[in-house]
Amino acid sequence: MTEILIVKCLSDNYAYIYSNKNGDAFVVDPSEAGPVIDVLNKHRLNLKFILNTHHHFDHVGGNFELKEKYKCKIVGSKKDFERIPGIDIQVSEGDIWSFDEHNAQIIEIPGHTTGHIAFYFESLKLVFTGDTLFSLGCGRLFEGSPEMMWKSLTKLRDLPDETKIYCGHEYTLSNGNFISSIYPSDEIESKIDRLKSLDKQNMPSIPSTIGDEKRLNIFLKADDEDLINSLGLTGKSPEEVFGHIRNLKDSF
Ligand code: ZN
Ligand code: FE
Repeated sequence: MTEILIVKCLSDNYAYIYSNKNGDAFVVDPSEAGPVIDVLNKHRLNLKFILNTHHHFDHVGGNFELKEKYKCKIVGSKKDFERIPGIDIQVSEGDIWSFDEHNAQIIEIPGHTTGHIAFYFESLKLVFTGDTLFSLGCGRLFEGSPEMMWKSLTKLRDLPDETKIYCGHEYTLSNGNFISSIYPSDEIESKIDRLKSLDKQNMPSIPSTIGDEKRLNIFLKADDEDLINSLGLTGKSPEEVFGHIRNLKDSF
């Protein structure tokens, strides 16, 4: 079974560590080095690579310190070669980055930032989505348009339902409360109950799965007739509906 170590960083960020039998590891989005080093030490792992989904400080803040300490290589979007600190390996849409026998397909998912990418490991049945797709939510549109972000989200939505989603932040409960406020259902209420109990125990809600997100995450449902009609947006395009929901969330 694939074991991803979840590392809490800053106030609500997650970095993720994957390692092989030899103790070689990669980390995704280390916002700070300290908590990542602690987990690497505890599990006696040697950091070989840093994977960055995008250039924001709360995803790359630990790059230089980790690179200095472990002499690891940093993988990031070619589009962001000037914005990802210490980048060594530049990747683009459709490229494959390999770790042992596991191939990560690079999926460009602009919207939150223009150079945002996802790392999809088909053999591990998981995807690192950064700040594009959150559990029950999606990232803010800092550098892209609703059209761009909707297209990116549908690329992720097309992955197999069982694919596990490892995203950049623990925002799930507040995302759930937003959904409940504009599109209530029994399923979202019982999900919120489970999230509250995880939150009380200080336990992560991550990973989610593509299948669960397709059912509950309204940002993946902007082409769903039932949702469109219930928001009073009958006849609007998915891009318009998505933009409307994103605006509502920005002021939630
Ligand atoms: Zn970000
Ligand atoms: Fe972030």
